[in-house]
Amino acid sequence: MPGSPPSTGRRIAIVGGGPAGLTAAGELVKSGHDVTIFEALHQPGGVLVYGIPEFRLPKKIVDQEVGRLQQAGVKIECNVVIGRTYTIPELRARFDAVFIANGAGLPVFMGVPGENLKGVYSANEYLTRVNLMAAYEFPQSDTPVLLGKRVAVIGGGNVAMDSARTARRLGADTSTIVYRRTRQEMPARAEEVRHAGQEGIRFEMLAAPVEVLGNPQRWVTGLKCVRMQLGAPDASGRRSPTPIPDSAFTMECDVVVVAVGTRANPLLTATCPDLKLDRRGNIVVDATGMTSLPGVFAGGDIVRGAATVILAMGDGKRAAGAIDRYLASAPRQ
Ligand SMILES: Cc1cc2nc3c(=O)[nH]c(=O)nc-3n(C[C@H](O)[C@H](O)[C@H](O)COP(=O)(O)OP(=O)(O)OC[C@H]3O[C@@H](n4cnc5c(N)ncnc54)[C@H](O)[C@@H]3O)c2cc1C
Repeated sequence: MPGSPPSTGRRIAIVGGGPAGLTAAGELVKSGHDVTIFEALHQPGGVLVYGIPEFRLPKKIVDQEVGRLQQAGVKIECNVVIGRTYTIPELRARFDAVFIANGAGLPVFMGVPGENLKGVYSANEYLTRVNLMAAYEFPQSDTPVLLGKRVAVIGGGNVAMDSARTARRLGADTSTIVYRRTRQEMPARAEEVRHAGQEGIRFEMLAAPVEVLGNPQRWVTGLKCVRMQLGAPDASGRRSPTPIPDSAFTMECDVVVVAVGTRANPLLTATCPDLKLDRRGNIVVDATGMTSLPGVFAGGDIVRGAATVILAMGDGKRAAGAIDRYLASAPRQ
């Protein structure tokens, strides 16, 4: 391509096409490296396309950025699950360096009875069905989603706000955030909470689900909760909630969306036993972003745990610089 940097002849594999992987790819291709992104889903973008809803981030913007990278020479192979299709050691044998940016997309559940009833979704699944798979167009699209009339969303973060607002847009009469602390302790950005309130989202504060209730056909009919009170601050500095005795109450609902967090998916790391992990299963890196395997770098949520787009992009940029320096001193494969 005219104006392209001279080729270095070095090949770099990037695992995951989210903000960390895309940013690293953009920087590395500018340096003249041959860059291939391996993405598990059928479309790159990571949480930007499957998690954050269209009303907050138009997908056109992500598509344009991905298109620019492809024009610059970045190759993107979708539907490739690293840990299944290829392993990290296999990629390392084929490429001069590897950047792992596969995020932290494994949903955490509450562990209460009834969580396997029909009508309970993880926020990840709920948002993916709607954002990536266009379930709102079903049956014109391939993927359905239950159109609950009374939706309960468990959690107090940005993901919970996105889920509750999505439920409203799918036609729910009521969409209620159920959170065990108060508004002050909510991890969601104040702006997101305000927008949710403006759109009619209800807030059931100081309430913790103890059971998802269902009918004999195993469809969700409600949520049994207990009232909470706040005690002394915990390790995070937030006041820890404790149940108030004999305070159980029931909320009627037909869909429950669990948005209480995500963590690293062990699928990739299980097939790469030499990769050092922390106790939460996140990949450990040194100050340059390199993992315990020489030439294998990592960044974004897979290192930090669920964090932010800007931090993931920063990791991608830093890792690209570190890979450049690593390649300058590493022998050619
Ligand atoms: C609903 C929601 C709303 C959010 N809102 C905000 C917000 O408003 N502002 C903000 O700053 N942050 C927000 N975040 C957090 C932010 O999106 C993440 O911190 C960020 O996307 C992390 O980037 P990443 O590149 O590390 O991972 P991801 O975006 O998760 O991308 C990882 C990519 O790797 C792919 N992948 C996973 N496993 C494999 C594998 N084995 N092989 C190949 N590919 C694989 C995934 O399919 C994915 O495309 C939100 C998160 C969610 C879920």
